[in-house]
Amino acid sequence: MAETTAIRAPRSLIAPGRYVQGRGVLAELGRYVAPIGSMPLILTDAVVKELTEATVTESFRRAGLPVRFEKFGGIPTAAEARRVADVAVERGCDVIVGLGGGTVIDTAKAAGDNAGIRWVSVPTVASTDAPTSALSVVYTEEGAFESYRFYARNPDLVLVDTQLVANAPVRFLVAGVGDALATWIEARAVQRASATTMAGGLATHAGIALARLSWDILWENAMPAVEAVRQNLVTPAVEAVVEANTLLSGLGFESGGLGAAHAVHDGLTAVPHTHHLVHGEKVNIGSITQLILEAAPTAEIRRFVEFTARLGLPTTLTEAGLGDADEEVLRAVVAAATAPEETIHNLPFPVSADDVLDALKAVEVLGRSVRAEAGLPEPQAPESLRTRVPTARMA
Ligand SMILES: [Zn+2]
Repeated sequence: MAETTAIRAPRSLIAPGRYVQGRGVLAELGRYVAPIGSMPLILTDAVVKELTEATVTESFRRAGLPVRFEKFGGIPTAAEARRVADVAVERGCDVIVGLGGGTVIDTAKAAGDNAGIRWVSVPTVASTDAPTSALSVVYTEEGAFESYRFYARNPDLVLVDTQLVANAPVRFLVAGVGDALATWIEARAVQRASATTMAGGLATHAGIALARLSWDILWENAMPAVEAVRQNLVTPAVEAVVEANTLLSGLGFESGGLGAAHAVHDGLTAVPHTHHLVHGEKVNIGSITQLILEAAPTAEIRRFVEFTARLGLPTTLTEAGLGDADEEVLRAVVAAATAPEETIHNLPFPVSADDVLDALKAVEVLGRSVRAEAGLPEPQAPESLRTRVPTARMA
């Protein structure tokens, strides 16, 4: 059997062609895009366009590139990716620049693949680890997880301007920390199970080490970085967290593997109750669920719950809008989280729907008890289930 395994699953690590991060680097975007294509299409939403248009236009002008913006439709569906690809083909574009949050970036990748051209990620928030990967999450029109879509290549360029990240609402950075903390929890489980990663092989030592490094950096820097971003400051802690959220977590999740945290996230998107949360916030509920399923040491779970609660991440079903959800709603979450193709089956032990249901219910009890013990306020239910944040619900 060992021979078969070796043939089926070699070790693999994949990565973007270039990663550039720093304060003000958006002004250099043209210089970095020019070697990749001469006819770029910039996919973005109205809010990000307003913030970046002058800088991007000047940067492209200096690099001798034409400036063509295309407005993102709002939800990263397969139909939206086809529409953007058609626009790119009609205009003779040879590279798509996804400028904004995770949803824009994932759509840019899908459209680039549809059109047979290259693509570039320019995240304006550090809310997810989507920018570096060779995959997109495809959503339904209703905003529920539909599937992962895999590409032959990672983006040719990922460029992150840390001043833009620091100017964005702090909630995005915090959500990115939630997404990035899951990376190590999931990668170590995938490694224990010798399961395949999103890169299509067993994890390399490098992939595992990057996932772990992301975790270590966040425990050290997340609190001061969040305080700095509240004041729109770019400090070394902010630079470290942006790198952990974007590059390290991106390489770590893709080449280290996903487990239960993201599967539970996907399950949570199946019910409208949770749609007020962004991706990394739902992932945090998933991370706690996975730690419970793994029977991680109690002290470790409690430390994780307290740390993420202090950062402002949801740690209870109440905050996820599911505090008074009936069994049927939770069953719908669990059914989606344990679908046969879900990454929850990468855990080193079998997981049933009942196991996940009870672990989810335990999240509520644990979250409340840790908050009480730590002197944190009781968890609050969302004020309105219709308060949706339009970007950044992506992997
Ligand atoms: Zn994610």
